[in-house]
Amino acid sequence: MLEIENLSVSYGRNEAVRGISFAVPDASIVALVGANGAGKTSTLNAITGLVSSSGRIVSDGRVLTGLTTDNRVRLGVAQVAEGRQLFPLMSVRENLELGGYLCRAAESRQRLTVLMERFPVLAERADQFAGTLSGGEQQMVAICRALMSAPQVLLIDEPCLGLAPIIIRKVTAILRELHGTGLTILIAEQNASFAAAVADRLILLENGRIRAEGSPNEVLGQPQFRQAYLGV
Ligand code: ATP
Repeated sequence: MLEIENLSVSYGRNEAVRGISFAVPDASIVALVGANGAGKTSTLNAITGLVSSSGRIVSDGRVLTGLTTDNRVRLGVAQVAEGRQLFPLMSVRENLELGGYLCRAAESRQRLTVLMERFPVLAERADQFAGTLSGGEQQMVAICRALMSAPQVLLIDEPCLGLAPIIIRKVTAILRELHGTGLTILIAEQNASFAAAVADRLILLENGRIRAEGSPNEVLGQPQFRQAYLGV
């Protein structure tokens, strides 16, 4: 279980995240939803230590607060950055290998083999430059690069950004499959209908605060949120 207690993130005077607390139970998918600037990315970046924050972050009973990002990865927390952030002029295989940089070479090779068996398109495209893949394929590589560190908790920032609806369905299928393996997943997502389709729970952020929390039906069933986030 990932537990976030009283988390705050500030950039100078701009308080992006204002004392939020929530938990991501083991083997669940929780989605942080909200408009641009609500504080979703800042929350994910604080959990992996990419930005400094105050409050407490605990994963599987171990306190992450104050640790460096690589040590948080060692403790089983990995992040897929917004916009995927692949190295376009490196092959798919090389991009994936980078995700295993903290483990021994033999272990990294074994994880790569397992991922390529699970997602055969990775094997088909292994020697292709990552920058030449479609958006959906790039998202798959970015997710699998994070999986190379064998995380217990996976954070994914805007998995659907810039993807066509048909590709979003493929990303949904990948996330459901990972969910089925017992991985604990926290998504930051602007697309509320996608979030509602994949997540067990939604946490609605507005101006760095939690405005609502519950099952997708509990949150998006409320007329004011339905209108604002689904446009219906
Ligand atoms: P988006 O969906 O647009 O990425 P978000 O919900 O992920 O939005 P954040 O990116 O966390 O929101 O941004 C929250 C607030 O913090 C915004 O007001 C943003 O301008 C500000 N912010 C984010 N990163 C920085 C930074 N590096 N320096 C200064 N302000 C920042």
